[in-house]
Amino acid sequence: MFDLLPLDGDGRSCYPKDTDSRWESAEVLVVVKAAPQPSAAYGDTVCVAGIRMRESGPEWIRLYPIPFRSMEEYLQFTKYDLIRLQVKPASKDPRSESYIPDRSTIETVAHLDPWKPRHRYVSPLSSQWTMCGVLKAQRAGKDFPSLAVIRPREVRDFKLTLHPGWTLEQAQKLKVNLGQEDLFGDAPKVQLLEAPRFEGKYSYFCEDKTCKGHVQGLLDWELVALERRLKDRDDVTAMSEIRKKFFTEMCSADHRPLFFVGNQLKHPLAFSVIGVYRSQSQN
Ligand SMILES: [Zn+2]
Repeated sequence: MFDLLPLDGDGRSCYPKDTDSRWESAEVLVVVKAAPQPSAAYGDTVCVAGIRMRESGPEWIRLYPIPFRSMEEYLQFTKYDLIRLQVKPASKDPRSESYIPDRSTIETVAHLDPWKPRHRYVSPLSSQWTMCGVLKAQRAGKDFPSLAVIRPREVRDFKLTLHPGWTLEQAQKLKVNLGQEDLFGDAPKVQLLEAPRFEGKYSYFCEDKTCKGHVQGLLDWELVALERRLKDRDDVTAMSEIRKKFFTEMCSADHRPLFFVGNQLKHPLAFSVIGVYRSQSQN
């Protein structure tokens, strides 16, 4: 079915909110698995975002909420899986890209590995926006996307600091949600989401000629996963290993890195890097 969909179209890099509230089938290439965050409404949740194939070409979709119950559940499908599922527009979230997923319908169709087979999905969405352009559109009251592919002109640095722990507000959200049922009536396990060990922030220039630079946190599950693998190392060694992967390797100019960025519901101007893509590769 995926092969029948046109991928040569330009897609829609920004589109109006769909007001139809019925469930519909969607085919999605998962490209973002964000780190779990405390949420007041749904407990520990993760944001999964992907590229949805439609008649007009590829476009962004955010699948939220996906409750974070256990590591096993989150690992059920991985980045660059092609999945099919039922979705409907998230009526309480004004962002057009936000859809509620029916998790019980998720079916993994294929996995695209390594980079080349993914390009035809990502490429059509990679030239429409600069980070400055998104923020300018927003400040001018024009339509802007809440998910975008940004091509950094130069990635200056990736700085790591010790995570200060959840804020009081975040910790409260986690406690309030213990024992509550989720949207689908599943009782959650009693477990508190651990705060990450480190925070990582990219500083970069986008392709806008007037760009003065952006500093954005990295909210990618891969960062948390690597932290966990390095849990026995001291802070300095762990930070050095993490920086090597997320800056030296992934942001090497030879790889022509792209950033997937997304904003927050309550802070639309606050964009984070939610994934790093390698647009130049041999295979
Ligand atoms: Zn910029």
